Amino acid sequence: MLSPLLSPRELSVFSTSYQNADDAFVASVAALGGSVGATELPYDGVGPAGESMATRKVWIGDPDAARVLVLLSAVHGVEGFCGSAIQQDLLQRLASGQVRVPKGLAVLVVHAVNPWGFAWCRRVDEQGIDVNRNFIDFSLPLPINAGYRELAHALVPGSSGSGSGAEVGSGMLQAGDERLTAYLQQHGQYGYELAVSGGQYEFADGLFYGGTAKCQARLNLEAIIQELDCPNRDVAVVDLHTGLGPYGHGELICDHALESEGLATAKRWYGDAVTIPEGGDSCSVPKTGLVDYAFHAAMGARSCYVTLEFGTYPIAELLRCLREDHLIRKQGQQPFTHSDAERVRLQLLKQFYPAEPQWQTMVLLRGRQVIQMASKGLLND
Ligand SMILES: [Zn+2]
Repeated sequence: MLSPLLSPRELSVFSTSYQNADDAFVASVAALGGSVGATELPYDGVGPAGESMATRKVWIGDPDAARVLVLLSAVHGVEGFCGSAIQQDLLQRLASGQVRVPKGLAVLVVHAVNPWGFAWCRRVDEQGIDVNRNFIDFSLPLPINAGYRELAHALVPGSSGSGSGAEVGSGMLQAGDERLTAYLQQHGQYGYELAVSGGQYEFADGLFYGGTAKCQARLNLEAIIQELDCPNRDVAVVDLHTGLGPYGHGELICDHALESEGLATAKRWYGDAVTIPEGGDSCSVPKTGLVDYAFHAAMGARSCYVTLEFGTYPIAELLRCLREDHLIRKQGQQPFTHSDAERVRLQLLKQFYPAEPQWQTMVLLRGRQVIQMASKGLLND
């Protein structure tokens, strides 16, 4: 009754830095022996300690398997502390023989989709791009988010690019609070979140910025999708995220279109737990440019993509931390020298990764459960 649900050794899959996570991931792969295919996709950039970075891809099981479970981590860099832990937990349980990959199934683990954000403890990449808003067709006119445009300067003062990191201060955010509260009262929580977090392509220093061209992480993911050959396989993608929802709760968010085969598949495999942003019952609102859409376009009917989103703290606090991060730690200014930079980094890290055993335990147990449901769904469908 008093012993922990998971041992300290099991909880040790949670890392203290990107470098630490990358090293531990490589060691976990090595422990599986020579039967797995491990590839490194180079990523241009260096971490705070001058470390190089990469997205790692590991294939476990039959190379020709018709059913594949795909696990993505760190699409939003700093959220990789959670995603990497779930991935390492699976690799370690496979290595110890606690679980095995059943015949007919393969597992593709993609570690650190946005290693730069992971290393610097930011949600965005080195260009300030939210990788999970970058998957739009850039040959078309950029989407317009009128709500964000209205709030841009209230959210991140000077988000037209003016002002240096040395001149700004966290106190500047208070000036925008009144404007944000008024918008919230006028449009409600749903309309407010849609405007702020739905995705915008106009303010490069702003929040949830989708960019004006494909980012590095997208190019790497597109190569992975191409190689995966989704049309000729059944694929279950579980994309690991944190920051939205109640503390420790792992919500299964499905961004497939209403009435789509992908949504029907997700419901068959994961049951009533699946929530649908378009249906309005999720902690997430509908968004533009999600990684999901690239997979949806390639997937057959008996495949689906879900985001496993682990809750941390209330959304108002999350937005405040993100605003401060974008104000104090703008892209292109690293190493971040502002006197508030370290405080801002630590509060953002906590917002996306509460390093408490209670939260970690809920994350690992839910991660195991979702992996089990996805595997069963793929094999029994
Ligand atoms: Zn996320």
